[in-house]
Amino acid sequence: MDKSLVAIVGRPNVGKSTLFNRIVGRRIAIVEDTAGITRDRLYAEADWNGKEFVMIDTGGLLLNDQDPLKAEVTVQAQVAMEEADVILFMVDAVIGVHPLDQEIADHLRGSTKPVIVVANKADNDYRDQDSTEFYALGFGEPFPVSALNGRSVADLLDEIVRKLPEEGKESPYPEDAIKIAIIGRPNVGKSSIINAILGEKRVIVSDIPGTTRDAIDTVFERKENTVVLIDTAGIRRAGKIQGSVEYYTVLRAVRAMERADVAMIIIDAHDGLKDGDKRVAGFAHEAGRACVIVVNKWDLVSEEDMKQYAQKLLVQIPFLSYAPLVFTSAITKMGVMDAVDTALDAASNHAMRIPTGELNRILQDAVDKHPYARKGKDLRIKYVTMTEVKPPTIVMFVNDPDLAHFSYVRYLENAIRREYAYEGTPLRLIVRKAKKERK
Ligand code: GDP
Ligand code: GDP
Repeated sequence: MDKSLVAIVGRPNVGKSTLFNRIVGRRIAIVEDTAGITRDRLYAEADWNGKEFVMIDTGGLLLNDQDPLKAEVTVQAQVAMEEADVILFMVDAVIGVHPLDQEIADHLRGSTKPVIVVANKADNDYRDQDSTEFYALGFGEPFPVSALNGRSVADLLDEIVRKLPEEGKESPYPEDAIKIAIIGRPNVGKSSIINAILGEKRVIVSDIPGTTRDAIDTVFERKENTVVLIDTAGIRRAGKIQGSVEYYTVLRAVRAMERADVAMIIIDAHDGLKDGDKRVAGFAHEAGRACVIVVNKWDLVSEEDMKQYAQKLLVQIPFLSYAPLVFTSAITKMGVMDAVDTALDAASNHAMRIPTGELNRILQDAVDKHPYARKGKDLRIKYVTMTEVKPPTIVMFVNDPDLAHFSYVRYLENAIRREYAYEGTPLRLIVRKAKKERK
């Protein structure tokens, strides 16, 4: 089932990211630290009263620096209207109605999605009164909150959850279908690769229709798997809104990834790794999807050495060192089915469980081999369990979590990967304090 999406829009400084962090903060804390990528959060999973949804802070998306503020809020509103199921339109209760608020309101007026006007910085009862002036924006009763101190945020969440669609969007595919999101910067060859895959004689395209509004899905059978390719190339707005191509690239990639098991990150062999590629790669990693890196247009650089190319590339995105690399040419079809098969393997690893006994043995051995101590205290692992797959998530109960240094956790992760390759999937290791043993 696809999760519903809640977007926050508003002019700068009204408190969008403060609210975002308050709502999703708890979840974010679980995700391991990722070295080497920017950590601006624009997207995270959240839940309230058992209902799950995805939040995006559209203000946190990067726009071209030259874009005037007005263009920025316009794009925000547009993206929210297209992508979101519920829109939080945030305003500043201390300042009152601002001309840019009017601007955003004008855009949102045509929205078919529910819009909640959130009057932020209502830190006390007195300021609640002030928020009534936002009736003038034309979206009904404003909702006063304080993102900073949390006041009425729970009530706001109740309201959001009430406004979410009844059920999430039902997936039209078989439950065990493997969904591959084809992501990457414009022009790296995403559409060409999909066409090359579908043009292979062995690929029989199924007639399950794609259903989503922002991506075109293609379904086929491969090695007894139902495979769904989620294409993010389709829609281009480069001409329409200057400077926001990357904004769409990232957002579409993020949306597609939310529905996918595997992210197939396409890069252009001739261009090498650009900042945009790193961002897309970073999101794939953070989303916890299985990942495959596809180096396309290899026909243009075929004299280069693949091994050296791979090494140079992975140094630039060290957080994805678990991702296999496949070299392709959509023109000659070299490697394209290999890319699909590698993605299927990665998906299978992504769902692989290690029996608890095995897991405890592997980690205990690793600790015995290289014990870790700080300030005269030994790190001791009491118990380890795999709580989830997709991605595999391991919770370690230890005597003192402060002793579990980042680099040591990385060492333990590598110990697991030595026995279970887990190629193409991130592993999450979470360290918790073990309860006191009963005497
Ligand atoms: P954004 O640009 O819309 O994402 O706004 P930020 O979340 O960065 O917040 C802008 C400023 O407003 C920061 O200094 C926040 O600390 C402050 N702020 C955010 N929420 C509140 C609130 O509920 N009350 C008060 N008094 N200040 C807030
Ligand atoms: P997308 O924007 O990522 O979907 O990229 P397209 O599939 O539209 O491809 C962009 C351009 O790159 C087109 O002109 C393609 O013909 C070209 N292209 C795609 N794949 C390859 C390839 O493997 N080799 C070469 N030489 N050109 C390619």
